[in-house]
Amino acid sequence: MVLEELGGRIARAISQIEKETIIDDKVFNECLNEIARALFQSDVKVEFVNNMKNNIKNIVNLHTIAVGHNKRTIIRQLCKMLDSGKPSFTPKKGKTSVVMVVGLQGSGKTTTCSKYAYYYQKKGWKPAVVCADTYRAGAFDQLKQNADKAKIPIYGCNTEIDPVKIAVDGVDKFKKDNHDLIIVDTAGRHIQEKSETAASLFEEMCQVAEATNPDLVVFVMDSRNGQAAFNQAKAFKQSVAVGSVIVTKMDGHAKGGCVLSAVAATKSPVIFIGTGEHMDELEVFDVKPFVSRLLGLMGDLSGFMDKIQKVVPMDQQPELLQKLSQGNFSLRIMYEQFQNILKMGPIGQVLSMLPGISSEMISKGQEKESQAKIKCYMTMMDSMTNEELDSSNLKLMNESRIGQIARGSGRPLREVMKMLEDLSRNMNAQHMGKFLPPQMLKKIGGL
Ligand code: GDP
Repeated sequence: MVLEELGGRIARAISQIEKETIIDDKVFNECLNEIARALFQSDVKVEFVNNMKNNIKNIVNLHTIAVGHNKRTIIRQLCKMLDSGKPSFTPKKGKTSVVMVVGLQGSGKTTTCSKYAYYYQKKGWKPAVVCADTYRAGAFDQLKQNADKAKIPIYGCNTEIDPVKIAVDGVDKFKKDNHDLIIVDTAGRHIQEKSETAASLFEEMCQVAEATNPDLVVFVMDSRNGQAAFNQAKAFKQSVAVGSVIVTKMDGHAKGGCVLSAVAATKSPVIFIGTGEHMDELEVFDVKPFVSRLLGLMGDLSGFMDKIQKVVPMDQQPELLQKLSQGNFSLRIMYEQFQNILKMGPIGQVLSMLPGISSEMISKGQEKESQAKIKCYMTMMDSMTNEELDSSNLKLMNESRIGQIARGSGRPLREVMKMLEDLSRNMNAQHMGKFLPPQMLKKIGGL
């Protein structure tokens, strides 16, 4: 079951309970059983699901507690399953941190090394990468290709066969060069094979860890590994001190269960999720916004703030946030955001972070179509008056005006109506007010 489906089923189960006038044991159990079924089908281990059900049952008192509270309890329990309870290590600017990256072959480890470096480079760190994978032919060239694209220094060699030596030499060199984030990529392991190669690669991974003494070991895990993910993650945790997890390939047909398995097996937080093959397709993972987004409750707040800082030019950020917080969300603001978004790409990722944007508006993997759609929206908006663009109440637009906009922009009437319907969801002042609490405004500064 893909992630959206899992979220949809859980959200439906919760909303079903809200519709009932009397919530008795039967109704409540049905809701929990539906959530459990959805989680099982997403590869979450049976014992976790049963634990979650028991916890909820122990907490919820159907006779005395309001429905809203029960809903919050379910959400809190979902969050708890995803939360390792441990803070994640974050590198400090100006102080050298060594991060060692481990994982199965093909999990996306090498790609993730450069994405991780790129993420911190954008935020002002001075990262560098070391390729200590001497096992897979071409590993160094692959990492180099990605690192070169982002102008991130790389250390490695196609001829040296001792990964420990490469790792130590690379870390030493970059420490001398004052890099504050040194990422060491290691050889991928094949856990399934109980072969000598697998055992020696695990041994080698431990030697690299011992020699470089990393501040953080990141376990990279493919979200498509299904039920096997738990044991794989556990095997890594038993061999090396995994401190954080990055779950890759959460785009496409990812199942949510892997994230839960990773947390449970490693007792470590998931810090990022990989959402594509490109360098910038790495999203910060935060439990609460993830669950909220999964259940379609609201836009991913922290993801949105992160994106807004990337999409919106610095000088426009305070003004935009001010307007959003006051609920003054007009078509003109939308137009300006479309302009910003079209300049950057890949747009699907950015748009999906915005609250209220319907899934029909952005189809994953159909970047070109989504881009064309936004351009159409902008053409239609070009035929609107200033007053219409600045108003936060679309209902003021009557049928004859909609007809004029359609004629003016050369687009069919139903398309203008569909756009207004889509965008009006974003213009609900109450929603936007809720969407940006004061602490988030402070985070961006200047307000
Ligand atoms: P490694 O063997 O673990 O180092 O894996 P690689 O970094 O070589 O990645 C294996 C494949 O997965 C490559 O084709 C990557 O482009 C792809 N990949 C990595 N991360 C992601 C992701 O988040 N989403 C998608 N769709 N593909 C990814």
